[in-house]
Amino acid sequence: MHDPDCLFCKIIAGQIPSRKVYEDDEVFAFHDIHPGAPVHFLMVPKQHVHSMAGVTDAHAGVLGRMMVLAPKLALEQGCNPYPDGGFRIVVNTGTEGGQEVHHLHLHVMGGPRPWLKG
Ligand code: 5GP
Ligand code: ZN
Repeated sequence: MHDPDCLFCKIIAGQIPSRKVYEDDEVFAFHDIHPGAPVHFLMVPKQHVHSMAGVTDAHAGVLGRMMVLAPKLALEQGCNPYPDGGFRIVVNTGTEGGQEVHHLHLHVMGGPRPWLKG
């Protein structure tokens, strides 16, 4: 389902350019335009759903795929391996949850952060 007013639906459709990280039939991943970490990309289901507050049992499969894909893509994009490296997965949900774009997305953030070391 494509929402013609949705920014991320337009990115998925290629109507707005993005730096693609990964794509399959259900999932699209692309670099965040304002990275908050050395590695910062977003993963979205291709089917529009506004947020985690809108998911149903029908989304369980794609959400599971996204969670399994995230560690693989994180390594490919330059996150260091667990346990000394790693990454964060953040899903802002609703205005009070910090969500600004209302198409469900996982932030995957990591990469070398020298300020965390001794
Ligand atoms: P939210 O606050 O909704 O969880 O996060 C939305 C994210 O989308 C922000 O980190 C923001 O930088 C990113 N973003 C907003 N507009 C664009 C865009 O046009 N292209 C890309 N690649 N990222 C965007
Ligand atoms: Zn959308």
